[in-house]
Order: sequence, then C-alpha cells, then structure tokens
Amino acid sequence: MADGGIFASGFKETPYWWEAGPRPERPPQPLPPPVDVAIVGAGFTGLVAALTLARAGRRVAVLEAQRLGEGASSRNAGYVGRTLKHSFGSLIDSRGLEGALAIYRDTRAAYDFVYELVEREAISCHLRRSGRFMAALSPRHYDGMARELAIKQRHLGDEFAMVPRAEQHRETGSDLFQGGAMIPEMGSIHPALYVNGLIAAAERAGAGLYDRTAVTGILRETDGFTVATSRGSLKAREVAIATNGYTGSATPWLQRRIVPFNGFMVATEILPRELLDRAAPTNRTYHDWNNNLTYWRRAPDQERLLLGWRTGSPTRDLKAKARRLKGRMDQILPDLKGTKLAHVWTGQCAATFDLWPHIGSQDGMHYGLGYCFAGVPMGSWFGYKLAQRILRANDARTAFDAEGFPTKFYYRGWPWFRPLAVAKFDWEDRRGL
Ligand SMILES: Cc1cc2nc3c(=O)[nH]c(=O)nc-3n(C[C@H](O)[C@H](O)[C@H](O)COP(=O)(O)OP(=O)(O)OC[C@H]3O[C@@H](n4cnc5c(N)ncnc54)[C@H](O)[C@@H]3O)c2cc1C
Repeated sequence: MADGGIFASGFKETPYWWEAGPRPERPPQPLPPPVDVAIVGAGFTGLVAALTLARAGRRVAVLEAQRLGEGASSRNAGYVGRTLKHSFGSLIDSRGLEGALAIYRDTRAAYDFVYELVEREAISCHLRRSGRFMAALSPRHYDGMARELAIKQRHLGDEFAMVPRAEQHRETGSDLFQGGAMIPEMGSIHPALYVNGLIAAAERAGAGLYDRTAVTGILRETDGFTVATSRGSLKAREVAIATNGYTGSATPWLQRRIVPFNGFMVATEILPRELLDRAAPTNRTYHDWNNNLTYWRRAPDQERLLLGWRTGSPTRDLKAKARRLKGRMDQILPDLKGTKLAHVWTGQCAATFDLWPHIGSQDGMHYGLGYCFAGVPMGSWFGYKLAQRILRANDARTAFDAEGFPTKFYYRGWPWFRPLAVAKFDWEDRRGL
C-alpha cells in the first residue's frame, strides 16, 4: 500500500477550488492596438486594477502568462483578514500610536473593500463574516494573543473573545491547543469563484484579458512603453505590475525585492457532516499562532476539510507534501484519522525583506505586490489603489506609500536562503512555545 491509504480514488494535484471555479479556457486572441494601460498578471490585483480603470474609460490590456487567475488568487485558503505580519502592538513601539493606527485603518479599509466589491459586482463566492479562531499551542501563545487583541480593541475597537482551554470544544474538536481567541469580524471566501467573478466584471467593463501571454521585457520609450510578450509586442502609455509571488525576470528591480514562498494545501474527500461539526463546530477560519502556521477551514460548498501547512520551497513531490499535511491534520483533529485526501496543491506567495506589502512606482511603472500572505484583501485593495494612482485620483494614497522597498546585496531573485529562513521560523516556533 504505497500511499498508506490516504489518497482517495481520483486524487488530484490541482486546487480543490478549481472544481467549482475552473480556470477559463479560451481561444487565443490577437493582442490589441496601443492601450492606455498594460497590466501584467491576472490575479486579484491585476483584475481589480483593470476593472477600475476600464470603468473610468481607459483602454486596458491584462497580460497573463498562465490561464486567467491561475496564480495564487485561485489557490489560497480564502481567509479574508485584517492583519499583517507586523502586529499592531509592535507597530506602536516602532512607529508610535498614530503610525500604527494609520496602517491598521488601511487594513480595515482593504477588508471592507472586498465586501463592497463583491456586493457591487454581484459575485457569488461564499463571502461571509465567518469569524476566526486562533489556536494557542502554549499558555505563552494564549497570553500573547490576549495582549495583542486587547490593544487592538482599545485603539481600533476590534472585538474578540478569549476562549480558555476548558471551553475550546465550543470552537474546535481539537485537544492540541491551550485555548485561543475568537475574532468575529474576519471573513472567508471561495477564492476561485471570487477571481472568476473579477474576470467577468473586468470583461464586462471593457478590459481586454489576454491569457497565456507571458511578458518577457518592458522597454520605456518617450511616449510610453513597449511590452514584449511571448505572443508579440504591445504599446501602452502606462504599465502596472501585479505579479506578486510569480514576479520574474521581466521586472528585475522587483524580482530583487520579492522572495517567493510556496504555500501548500490539501482537501479531504467528502466527509460525514457530523464529523465536520465536531472538528470545526463554529465553521470559522482557524489557524495556530506559529510563524510557519497551520491553517484549516471547512470548504464553503461541500463537506470537506481544507488545511495548509509547511509554507516554504517548491517541491516536485506533492504527494509527499500531502502525507505531511495529513499527518498534521490528524494531529490537530484526530477524529479525521482514517479519512482520505482528494486534493493537494501549491501556489506562490510573496514575502518581502521588511514584511510589508508595497505599492509604488519605479522606472515609470506602477506596482502593487508583496502581500506576505494577506493578498485576498490587500491584493484586491492595492488593485483599486493602483488604478487610482494611474487615474491621478485624489484618494490614491495608502499608508504603505511611504515605505522604501528594500532588497539585500546578495539577492538577485533566486531565494537560495529560503530553507534557512524556514528553519529559523521553525526554531523560533519551538522556542516560543
Ligand atoms: C496556499 C496559499 C494560501 C494562501 N492563503 C491566503 C489566505 O487565506 N488569505 C490571504 O489573504 N492570502 C492568502 N494567500 C496569498 C494570496 O493568495 C495572494 O497574496 C494573492 O492571491 C495575490 O494576488 P495577486 O493578484 O497579486 O497575484 P497572483 O494571483 O499570484 O497573480 C499573479 C499573476 O502574475 C502572473 N505573471 C507573473 N509574471 C508574469 C509575466 N512575466 N507575464 C505575464 N503574467 C505574469 C502569474 O502567472 C500570476 O497569475 C495564500 C497563498 C497561497 C499560495
């Protein structure tokens, strides 16, 4: 039994999300005559930028190397949050209360933007205010959460409830944790249906979307840009880069500033409803408090559990990764032992050296990327803000504009140090328990 019996028949190495929200297959279209704006990348960022610009009357072409939405936007866990890698408490220390408030108000704006957009465009994508349960692996985690959340409540009004270990079965079927925190104002979404809804909305607004069109170089000229692609070249007055974890050699300045990490997820076969009601009774999004965190949730459209873990380097052996993730699932939710996996998949996220997302302009090109795993809200919102920049609109600014965009002298775009970074996270996680 080579696979240890954990793989369901018909097991796939593609995202579970693609079952209900498949990648669009389209006949190749010729590239258009000169456009106002060429956007590189058709994920949340590029599509929201395209939608906003097309609605404002600009001629827009979105150039996507794969199928539309095939990057991380149709591969993520669908957590819609209001947090960043920099905690609110640490920002008060480093930037003062006003600086911290400005940044966290922007994360709130990004979160609200997703709800407004989904409603306005009538996108059916299981978006709901599910709440989130953050599980503490130690009393130290529990106290750390309580401190951070109390500061946020005081200054931002964000509600939360601490759930002691003795009461945690209200939230989770797990006995692994030392309690945790429940935050009601957090959301969840079906990411592939969301990105498909954005594709349809951008096309309705008049944007041209060109899949399987990899940008290979961008040349700045006196009157705009010539964008070279795998299917010929295109003239554009302005260019926006929305390539996040897939940023490559076509934009070397950005490539030196983005560190791609692979996220990995599995989905179980269809399970008995009672089993899921025991494992995740409140049907929220869930994660632990590690640097290299484990996250899990129920699928919004079928009785399955989805889990992600071991973010790190790419692997050719996704089945081996699936076995490790299933081991973790069984450890957290022993009731799910003996259940099988139907999907494993991976996708590329973007870390930055300062752990900030970045929006700005360089060499005349605009960019929005580096979401450090918060790209569902931040990517959507930066897409909107990128469009506002290009439209020279009054509300183009964000609290992130002022950040410089650091790189390291030793980094040319190949993250040879990624395993070391993961080992450091793991070590810190063990120490932090
Ligand atoms: C497993 C996993 C779980 C995640 N979970 C969450 C979560 O729960 N919540 C959350 O907020 N975030 C999560 N993220 C992160 C989130 O998915 C991303 O931050 C977000 O999708 C970024 O959107 P984007 O449009 O900027 O980039 P993407 O959707 O990655 O799109 C970038 C596109 O650019 C294209 N591209 C790159 N180079 C070129 C080129 N030269 N020419 C043409 N096209 C090019 C790529 O093909 C790609 O399709 C997760 C990511 C992964 C991988």
